[in-house]
Amino acid sequence: MRASRFFIATLKEAPADAEIISHKLMMRAGLIRRLAGGIYTWMPMGLRVLRKVEAIVREEMNRAGAIELLMPAVQPFELWEESGRGPKYGPELLRFKDRHQRDFVIGPTHEEVITDVVRREVKSYKQLPRHFYQIQTKFRDEIRPRFGVMRGREFLMKDGYSFHASYADLEREYRNMHETYTRIFTRLGLKFRAVAADTGSIGGTGSHEFHVLADSGEDAIAYCSASDYAANVELAEALAPTTPRAVATQTMQKVATPGKTKCEDVAAFLGVPLQKMVKAVAVMRAEGGFGLLLLRGDHDLNEVKTQKVIGEFRFARDEEIVAALGCKPGYIGPVAGNKIAVFADRTVTTMSDFVCGANEAGFHLTGVNFGRDLPEPAQVADLRNIVAGDPSPDGKGALDICRGIEVGHIFQLRTKYAEALKCQFTDEQGKEQVMEMGCYGIGVSRIVGAAIEQGNDERGIIFPAAIAPFEVVIVPMGYAKSEAVRKAADGLLADLLAAGIDAILDDRDERPGSMFADWELIGIPHRVVVGERGLKEGKLEYKGRSDAEAQMLPAGEVLSFLK
Ligand code: ATP
Ligand code: MG
Ligand code: MG
Ligand code: MG
Repeated sequence: MRASRFFIATLKEAPADAEIISHKLMMRAGLIRRLAGGIYTWMPMGLRVLRKVEAIVREEMNRAGAIELLMPAVQPFELWEESGRGPKYGPELLRFKDRHQRDFVIGPTHEEVITDVVRREVKSYKQLPRHFYQIQTKFRDEIRPRFGVMRGREFLMKDGYSFHASYADLEREYRNMHETYTRIFTRLGLKFRAVAADTGSIGGTGSHEFHVLADSGEDAIAYCSASDYAANVELAEALAPTTPRAVATQTMQKVATPGKTKCEDVAAFLGVPLQKMVKAVAVMRAEGGFGLLLLRGDHDLNEVKTQKVIGEFRFARDEEIVAALGCKPGYIGPVAGNKIAVFADRTVTTMSDFVCGANEAGFHLTGVNFGRDLPEPAQVADLRNIVAGDPSPDGKGALDICRGIEVGHIFQLRTKYAEALKCQFTDEQGKEQVMEMGCYGIGVSRIVGAAIEQGNDERGIIFPAAIAPFEVVIVPMGYAKSEAVRKAADGLLADLLAAGIDAILDDRDERPGSMFADWELIGIPHRVVVGERGLKEGKLEYKGRSDAEAQMLPAGEVLSFLK
C-alpha cells in the first residue's frame, strides 16, 4: 500500500465528547467518525483493524468446528413474542413498523432467529450437534452510549449458537468455546481474564465473561490469586452470604413487604436495575444514615459513594446540589426520615411531591422510615461494596479487585429458547426431545477500543502486531527528490509485500516530523526510515513503536529482522 493512494485522516485534537483515551485516539488517528450518538463510520484505517480482529475470530471459530452463516439484522417481532422475551427486553430493543404496519426489531442478538432456523432444518439426533455463528451488525438502543465503539448503539458482534441432543454435549461444547475464546484473545495480543458470571435462574458454572483488563473498564472483577477463583463482582457478592449485597438484599426485602415500598416498582419507575437500587440503598444507609438514594439511569456505583454528603442538602434546589457536589444532574435522592428529595430535571421536592410524581406513572412510594421500615444505621454499618482483602467465596484466600471491559460472553442457555420456540429433534429411540442450547458472543468492534485502552502512550496508539492496520511503515526522507531513496523505498515495499508482511510506504513527501507523528499516533508496530545518508553506508533506520531509540540496520537484513 502507498499512503498517497490510501486515506489518512489524523487530527490534532480529539472531539470534546471523547472521555477515555481509546475513544480520543480512535478519533485522532482517523479510525472512526461519528454519525450520531453511538453510531460510527469505520474509516479505511480503522476498518483494517476491525477486519483483522474479525479474521482471527473467524479462523478460530472455524477451527473449533463452528459453521458460519449470516442472519438478517431485521427480525419480525412475532418471534420475540413467541420466545416471551419481547415485552421484557425493554427500551434497548429498537422496534419499528413496516408499510403494512407489521412489527419488526433491529436485532440486538439472534437467539430467536437461529432457533427458528434450526427448528425448521434440524429434525434428527443424527444432525446434532451443530454450532452456527455469524459476524454481524447489532443494534441496541443503549441508554448511555459512550466511549466511542466500546458502548455503541450499532456495533459488530460475533454471535454463535450451539444445539445439542444432551446436556453433557452442551457442556463439552461450552468447554470447547472457553478454550477457543482463550486462544482468540491470546492471538489478539490482549491481557484478559475469564470470569464466572451470573446465569440468573440457571446458576452453576453456566456462564463466563471474558474481560480485557483496563482501569477504564465499566465492570469490576473479583479474583483470588491463591486459587483460580475469578468472577464478576455481582456474582462474587451474590455468592458470599455476609457481603453487603446479601445484607442489602435482606434490607430491601424488608422494605418491600406488602403495603410498603415496592422496590421493584420503584426500580421500574426509575428505569434502574433492581439490584443496583438495592445496593445504592444499602450503601447510603451505611454511610451516615441518610437512607434511600435512587439513581436515574445507568450510573456507576462509585458515584453512589460521592453522594453521601447529599444529606446536608435536604431541601436544596437542584442546581445548588449539582454545583455543590459537582455531580451530574438527573439524580433522584435522598431520603431523610420520611422525606425524599427528588432532583431530576426539576427542583428538589419533598416526599409528597415525589409520591405525586410517582403516582402519575402509577407507583406509590411508602414505607421509607428509619427503624420502622429500614434497619437502624448501626445494624448495617458494615455494609460496603466487596473490597480487596475480603475473603474469596471459595474460602481459599483473599480477593483482589480489578476493572475489566467485557469483550466476550459464553452462556449455557439450556432449553430456554428451544422450549419456547419448540425446537425439537427425534432421539435414537424415536422420541421427540427439546434441544439443549448454548450461546457465545464476542464484541468484535469493542475489542478495537479495548486493545487501545491497553496499548497507548503520549504519542498515540500502540497496536498489538496482530491487529495493527499495517505491520510496517516505510518512511522515505525525500521520496520525490532522491532517486536512490525512492528506489530503495519502493524495493523494500515490494520485498515486504512479497514476504507477506502488511506494509505501507509513506510517499506523501511531507515533513519527516509530521509523517513520524502520524504513524506513531496510528500505532504501527514497526517503522523503517530510508534516508540518503544511511543508504550510502548500506543502512536503514529501524524503530519499534515502543522502542526508546532507533537503530541502524544493514539494508539487506531488514526483511529477515521483520519476519
Ligand atoms: P454489557 O454488559 O457491556 O452491556 P452485554 O452483557 O449486554 O454487554 P452480551 O449480550 O453479552 O453484552 O453481548 C456479547 C458481547 O457483545 C459483549 O460481551 C460485548 O463485548 C459486546 N457488546 C455488548 N453491548 C455492546 C455495545 N453496546 N457496544 C459494543 N459492544 C457491545
Ligand atoms: Mg448490555
Ligand atoms: Mg454484561
Ligand atoms: Mg454479557
